[in-house]
Formats: sequence, structure tokens, C-alpha cells
Amino acid sequence: MSDLPIKKKCPSCQGLSVYGEHAHFPFCSARCRDRDFLAWTDEARTLSTPLVDAENSMDNFSLSDGVFPD
Ligand SMILES: [Zn+2]
Repeated sequence: MSDLPIKKKCPSCQGLSVYGEHAHFPFCSARCRDRDFLAWTDEARTLSTPLVDAENSMDNFSLSDGVFPD
């Protein structure tokens, strides 16, 4: 790496975000950061829903809890 500014694509709008110039890096703006955060929480809720009603597999889930990626 060099001492040039770190540039990334905004994960939300694919626009350019520059470390040190954009306060919400790697997002280009607070709006993009919030939009991505909302999408993430919505996805997390969708993913966790099947686990809630899977009471029969709770024992199984506990066993695999140790290998769950953090
Ligand atoms: Zn953006």
C-alpha cells in the first residue's frame, strides 16, 4: 500500500468514497450508510426467522453453535 488516499466503491451506490474525505467511509454519504444498514437488518431478520420456529432442532443448533462463524 502507498500513502495515497484509500479509495473504495460505496457499497450502497457504487460511487467513489475516499478515506479521509468521506466521513462515512467506505460509504460516500450518511444516506448510503443508512440504506445499507437498513438492508442488512432486514436481511438478518429474514435469516433468523426460520431459526425461531425450529424448536425441534434447538438441540442440533446448540451443538453447532461452537462452529458458527462470527
Ligand atoms: Zn453511496
